[in-house]
This record gives sequence, structure tokens and C-alpha cells, in this order.
Amino acid sequence: MTQFGFELLATDGAARLGRVDTAHGPMDTPAFMPVGTAGTVKAMMPESVAATGAQTILGNTYHLMLRPGAERVGQLGGLHEFMQWKGPILTDSGGFQVMSLAKLRKMTEEGVAFQSHIDGSKHLLTPERSMRIQHLLDADITMAFDECTPFPATPEQAAQSMHLSMRWAKRSKEAFVSRPGYGLFGIVQGGIYHDLRAESACALRDIGFDGYAIGGLAVGEGQDLMFQTLDFTAPMLPAERPRYLMGVGKPSDIIGAVLRGVDMFDCVMPTRSGRTAQGFTRRGTVNLRNARHQDDARPLDADCACPACRQYSRAYLHHLIRSEEILGPMLLTWHNIQFYQDVMKGLRGAIAAGRVHDFADDFLATQAQGDIEPI
Ligand SMILES: [Zn+2]
Repeated sequence: MTQFGFELLATDGAARLGRVDTAHGPMDTPAFMPVGTAGTVKAMMPESVAATGAQTILGNTYHLMLRPGAERVGQLGGLHEFMQWKGPILTDSGGFQVMSLAKLRKMTEEGVAFQSHIDGSKHLLTPERSMRIQHLLDADITMAFDECTPFPATPEQAAQSMHLSMRWAKRSKEAFVSRPGYGLFGIVQGGIYHDLRAESACALRDIGFDGYAIGGLAVGEGQDLMFQTLDFTAPMLPAERPRYLMGVGKPSDIIGAVLRGVDMFDCVMPTRSGRTAQGFTRRGTVNLRNARHQDDARPLDADCACPACRQYSRAYLHHLIRSEEILGPMLLTWHNIQFYQDVMKGLRGAIAAGRVHDFADDFLATQAQGDIEPI
């Protein structure tokens, strides 16, 4: 039986090379986990997601509890079996989306009562219910139920929100059913305030988790404040456990966070952008809808090995998007996930070689050049 664990393999400054072991296989870190909100990484076959090098994907508790229902997924063998994803799955706690999507929500000490945004049905999400749902989904990595503190928040608001999350973290730990290969992560809150982050990290360490997430960032504070918060928050977390920055982000956000000691990331950006004609490339973001691509026989990114770049031209991708053909979002999503995985692979290689700062400088300099010149 695989034990859930984290092995720190090398460091380069604060950047870390490691491996997380789970019941459904390993995850090499730093890692980017594509988001599979409703039991699918939108527009991608699971084997295509795996072909990019992605090892772990995300599932969303809020969406799956409402449709098709956690009990149903459980009866059908869990989320891996249901969606045919063989690797590790991380599920969020539902806390973030219940506050951003649900109707008529009411938060109390007990949890959050709300109505489904799909059919108006009434639900109560508590730390105990969130642990139960994530267990039914068979998540390799379960996230503690918390409140994502909004930005901006006064110190008083951030403290009150963080204290509630810490009480919910304790209840999450007590409700989590421990089994080999499965882990539970706590989530540090406290907004942009040093003392609150320290208090939160300390409270979570006392409870004891298999990994530690940094929540409440990438909510509008901007990259500078996010990096400042990471500068003091990451060192507060145990070195021997994985660190996960939730909902981040742009490639430059991820690289900056890796340099500050973060191991795991997720974001809808590569998949959502793929459905809105945005392609991430080594020379920055490209809008394939733009007419400048209509006669361009060159690939989107000449250094990318994905099918969109290996087999098709910018002109064809542009045509698919203008014609609203389904293949357009499919190819661009594949490319964007491949690009993110290539960035992570580059970071892992650079940390192993002790040159992660050079890698970061080169990457950002190439991005800053902007897209290749029009033909
Ligand atoms: Zn590509």
C-alpha cells in the first residue's frame, strides 16, 4: 500500500524539487494541476491530458455534489473510475465556489447553507459534509473546508475569517477518514497580513496536515502583493510537507511562486483561455482570433510538441476559431496545458541543475519580447 508522502529531492535557493506519492501514483513537483471542474478537463480526453505530462487533476466539490451528486459518483466507483482518470485527483472543499456561485447562501459557525445555482435545491455544506463528499469522490488529496477571505479585507475582517477557517480546519481533520495513500491539506488564510498568516500557519501545524495550501491569494491583490505575502508565508510552512498555492495563475506568477518555495499549482487559465482563442507561447500570449494569423503557415509555438503546434498552422487555428468549430478550443486547450507542463518540466530540470534563477530570467526575457513578427 502506497503511503501518502512527500520527498524533497533538491533545493535551489528557496525553490524545491520534490515528489508527492499518492494511492493513484506520484506527482513530480513543482507541479501544475489542470482543472477538471465537473469531472472533465473541458475539451480534453483524459488520455490527452495525461499525454501533456500532467499527473494530477482537480475536481470541484461544489459542482460534483450538485451534479451528478457525490453519492452517485461514489456508487459508480469514485471519480477516477467515473471519468477514467488514472492518476491522482485533488478536490477542493467547495468553500470557495459556494461563496462565489451559490444563491441565497448563509454562513454560520456550522457551515454554509445555500441554494443550488442549477436547480434551486437546498444544501448545507459543513466541514464534515465536505470531508464526506471528497471521500465519496475518492480524492487522493482532500482540502480542508475553509472560507477564502475576500480582498480587500481589513485586519479585523481577515482575522475573523481566518479564525473561522481554523476552527473548520480542526473539524475537517477530525472528520477526515485516514487511509493509505490519501492525504488531507490545511489552508493558511490571513489575507496579506504577516501576523495573521503566522497565526494561521501555527494553528494548522498544531492540528497536523499532510500538506499545506496558501489560500486567499490571486483574488485581486496583484502580483507584487501576492509575492510579498508568499515571501513571509512560505517559510512558515513545514519544509517536509508539500505546499500548494491555490488558483494561481499566469506563468510568471507560477515561476515567482516556485522561486519562493511553492510546490503545487492549479488554475483555470490555460483551459479557459483555450476556449477563448488565447494561446500561451514562449513569446507571450497570442490571440488566434486576430486577422494577422489568417495567412500564417507557421505553428503557434515552434518549440511546442503538442498536436496543435506539430500538425497545424496559425492560419488553420484562426480559421477554426472564426468558424466556431469545436476543434479550435480542443487544440488550443491541449496546447495551453502542454505549455504549462513544459514550463513546470523546465523548472524541475533547472532546480535539479541549480540554475532556476537563470531559467526564470530567460523565460521572462523571452516572454517580454512579445509574439513572433507577422509574416
Ligand atoms: Zn503546442
